[in-house]
Amino acid sequence: GTLPAREAIGALVEAAYAQFREERSGRVADYIPALAEADPQAFGICVANTHGDALAVGDAGQPFSIQSVSKPFVFALVCDALGPDEAAARLGVDATGLPFNSIMAVELRADRTTNPLVNSGAIATTSLVPGASAEQRWRAVREGLSRFAGRELAFDERVYRSEAESNERNEGVAHLLRGYGRVYCDPDEATDVYTRQCSLLVTARDLAVMGATLAGGGVNPLTGQPVVSADTCRRVLAVMATAGLYERSGTWLYDVGLPGKSGVSGGIVTVSPGKGSVAVYSPPLDEAGNSVRGQLVTRYLSERLGLNLFVSA
Ligand code: GLN
Repeated sequence: GTLPAREAIGALVEAAYAQFREERSGRVADYIPALAEADPQAFGICVANTHGDALAVGDAGQPFSIQSVSKPFVFALVCDALGPDEAAARLGVDATGLPFNSIMAVELRADRTTNPLVNSGAIATTSLVPGASAEQRWRAVREGLSRFAGRELAFDERVYRSEAESNERNEGVAHLLRGYGRVYCDPDEATDVYTRQCSLLVTARDLAVMGATLAGGGVNPLTGQPVVSADTCRRVLAVMATAGLYERSGTWLYDVGLPGKSGVSGGIVTVSPGKGSVAVYSPPLDEAGNSVRGQLVTRYLSERLGLNLFVSA
């Protein structure tokens, strides 16, 4: 199947925007000082299909730091480079059921793997990005995510510095993992590249294109360029479906029935395999760190567009 025609989607996206515009629940993240400055009113939606058509409303062109929405895309790069079996063996692909910054997640399993979509596994994932130095791995991350977006992504130095100056928790996770042999380079370098990765600037429109690239078997719909293999996309989407919204991932799949990924700056991307992607930007978050309006809009659109993967007819 494909997404409905542009006009039909446009009307639905406008309706979702109007419906949730006045929603005021949730709180903007403040544990990273620079994120606390985000405008809680900012609200953008973009729907993109696998043919390069995109429909955007509101603040879909407003840049924000990608944060955890970077995780599935960096995992895709690593999965593509190492192959899905080795990537799973070294990182783990089972949901932790725990908050994104959990240190207990590291102790859950005998082999001390976690999941690429929470901080511990994401730092481990970044440590596996091919490159002989931290500088090379950072370049590969930035170029790889830019290929997913179909344009060169800028880096927010202010957000990076702000997080780097209050990063004890991620540094602690990285050192603990290193003790178990589950970070695959110097742990401080891995944390630093991970923090840079989280500070890349995207818009809701970028996230929709990145999601549509996963939806389309790894081919970027804007550039026509292959970014990762179709097999990699299938694996990444499976991990997003089971672990994309931290400890709320089961509830998300129950309600929406699609792979998604959220981040603490308020971005959320959802993928409809073979069809396209929905991306939302709205900074106020629920208790788990997922955009409140992002979840509401995605649920609204996925129901009306008939995207739930578990619907039989
Ligand atoms: N950079 C953030 C952190 O490591 C990303 C977390 C998130 O978006 N959930 O804490």
